[in-house]
Amino acid sequence: MTNSNYRLRLPGPTTVPERVRRAIAQPVLSHRGPEFRSIFNRAEELIQPLLGTGNRVLFFASSGTGMMEASLVNILAPGERVLVSCHGQFGDRFAAIARALGATVDTLDVPWGRTVDPGDVERRVSAANYRAVVIVHNESSTGVVADLAAIGGILRDSPVLLVVDSVSGLGGIELRQDEWGIDVLISSSQKALMCPPGVGLVTLSPKAWQIVNRDDRLPRYYWDFRKAMQSVEDSGTPFTTPVSLMAGLREALEMIHEEGLSQVFERHRRLSGALRTGCEALRLHSFPQVGSAGVSSTVVCLNVPEALNGGDIVRGLYQRHGTVIAGSRNKLEGKVIRIGTMGFLNAGDILTDLLHLEDTLKSLGFPVASGAGVSAAAKEISDAR
Ligand SMILES: *Cc1c(COP(=O)(O)O)cnc(C)c1O
Repeated sequence: MTNSNYRLRLPGPTTVPERVRRAIAQPVLSHRGPEFRSIFNRAEELIQPLLGTGNRVLFFASSGTGMMEASLVNILAPGERVLVSCHGQFGDRFAAIARALGATVDTLDVPWGRTVDPGDVERRVSAANYRAVVIVHNESSTGVVADLAAIGGILRDSPVLLVVDSVSGLGGIELRQDEWGIDVLISSSQKALMCPPGVGLVTLSPKAWQIVNRDDRLPRYYWDFRKAMQSVEDSGTPFTTPVSLMAGLREALEMIHEEGLSQVFERHRRLSGALRTGCEALRLHSFPQVGSAGVSSTVVCLNVPEALNGGDIVRGLYQRHGTVIAGSRNKLEGKVIRIGTMGFLNAGDILTDLLHLEDTLKSLGFPVASGAGVSAAAKEISDAR
């Protein structure tokens, strides 16, 4: 298969634009020299508005999961209690990491496809003594967004930390760490930030730093945020920085700011909405059972019709068109398919997805009206102009 007919349409990793690939291809720099320092500082400066924070940003060579573990080893002492919202696969993963570290883990179990009710968080935190509440901002396995402003408001004046995974939200969905009261916010490079996998990042509130700076935490070395903070004050990281990926990240952030942050968020909203509308016309109904405020703009998660299996749709799209989307690797396996709508994406990409979906559904003997998906989505995009 040639490059030109490989369409990476996953909810991560996502397509890396040419400009970013060129930046990554530049000669490798010393991670402690002035040339790299200016790239590093610029990346931090450009990413802060996406996070909605004035806090320093710590970068690690890591996938998103590494940052999940890092956030917990820096705030937990052995046996301390955490409350993890489990409304999808990544909430479950966070709970598994916390258990592996020896924390006492309570889960707030929410049916998949729904979002966590801030009132439930309030009830649970008033009933036990938690070090932290862990929430996945954008649950990529179900396409649902949590109401962080409301949850942050509940925890703000308490000693409980709010830990948030926005791996698949940052850069595609609005985040306001400082205003919403998020204490530990993690993300990584390969989703809406339009970079290859490999860079993880975290920002911490002053309230979180008070806990991180205690000496009775879990064992930590590579992940020690105190060391990372000392280095960032020197424009660097404690260990060798993934310099090429950071150069790519900086370029991607320049692109985001050139387009304008609110325009970027609006584009994600518009295109994910149009894709959902088009899929509806193909009788692929949206999986999330939430109002529009809770539906993700970065991941479209669709119910697979009774007569079909999700794996067959995923395989058909790939084999017939080189279009790579995701099924599900958990209890929804076969029942949902997922398409990324984040990062480097335009209306043409959505319309092509729908054309390929229509053809694949027909090939599986699932009758759909010719052109129905493309035309419904195109109409919605045109009407929005
Ligand atoms: C992709 C993703 C992660 C991180 O996964 P890695 O494969 O470790 O990078 C974590 N949380 C969410 C919500 C994600 O979408």
